[in-house]
Amino acid sequence: MIPGSFDYFVPRSIPEAIELLSAHRDDVKVLSGGQSLLPLMKMRLSKPGYIVDIGKIPGLDGIVEEGNSLVLGALVTHAQIEHSVLLQKRCPLLPQTAATIADIQIRNRGTIGGSVAHADPAGDMPAAIMALDAEIKVAGPNGERWVKADDFFLGLLMSVLEPDEIVSAVRVPFTDKDKTAYLKAAPRSSGFAVVGVAVRITMDAAGICARAALGITGISDKAYRPQRSEEILSGKKLDSRIIAEAAAESTRNIEVIEDINGSSEYRTHLTHVYVQRAIEAALQG
Ligand SMILES: Cc1cc2nc3c(=O)[nH]c(=O)nc-3n(C[C@H](O)[C@H](O)[C@H](O)COP(=O)(O)OP(=O)(O)OC[C@H]3O[C@@H](n4cnc5c(N)ncnc54)[C@H](O)[C@@H]3O)c2cc1C
Repeated sequence: MIPGSFDYFVPRSIPEAIELLSAHRDDVKVLSGGQSLLPLMKMRLSKPGYIVDIGKIPGLDGIVEEGNSLVLGALVTHAQIEHSVLLQKRCPLLPQTAATIADIQIRNRGTIGGSVAHADPAGDMPAAIMALDAEIKVAGPNGERWVKADDFFLGLLMSVLEPDEIVSAVRVPFTDKDKTAYLKAAPRSSGFAVVGVAVRITMDAAGICARAALGITGISDKAYRPQRSEEILSGKKLDSRIIAEAAAESTRNIEVIEDINGSSEYRTHLTHVYVQRAIEAALQG
């Protein structure tokens, strides 16, 4: 359980970090909280020759209001998100999600930037930021760009990030008028989702669902939005028949994985149950 040897850099600015990443592009890893990277390195599943620790770059660990959005620096930890009064008030889905991640030690170290960049198919944050229509700020040698959460994840531990780019922030909208919930089924040992469901529902004054956004994680190679389910919910009064219909469509066109935590049939069924429960939980507040 000892990682391979590597050169270790601690840049003090984003441009400096990018310069280092560009110089060692083929053999380099960014280090944030280390809660995913270090286990991989210790098991020698990842053997980078260079580590760029971004933990000392100032300005990446805050949560700030920007118009009708909140911008979270990449180094904001899961624990910070869980306990942020601002997020609890303005965007409660993120604290609801962060509170389900692993245990206190991991929440104290793990970061939103790391969770997004790692693109773990069982990670909780990808599902939440998709349901929130969040945007991810990516900094690289050619400057900065914002990427929609829906477009960011490509597959198992794969995203649109280039090796010399870093996630510098995540922007989420105010959703205090929406109904949100995050629910997951997970083994106690790791806390990783067998299935995790994020829900954001906007109701109109007449009690009709004006818009529904869902993010699902844990059952395929990446988090996804169940488009058909969202369509079924939108424009309807959300009674139990509509919710059950939407839940039953939540795995449509998805290749559901199987592993030691369950067969694909089991996971498919569990997803339908959890989508239904998560929508009900959101509606009940
Ligand atoms: C026992 C255990 C249980 C866990 N349970 C859960 C769980 O229930 N739910 C869950 O969602 N997660 C879980 N995790 C993972 C945890 O949330 C990690 O903190 C998170 O996935 C990665 O964040 P990090 O800051 O630790 O990233 P790191 O481990 O530092 O990095 C992870 C990867 O992302 C890259 N990276 C990191 N930051 C950036 C950045 N800003 N820009 C570009 N690339 C970057 C690294 O190069 C690396 O490839 C668990 C981890 C462990 C060890």
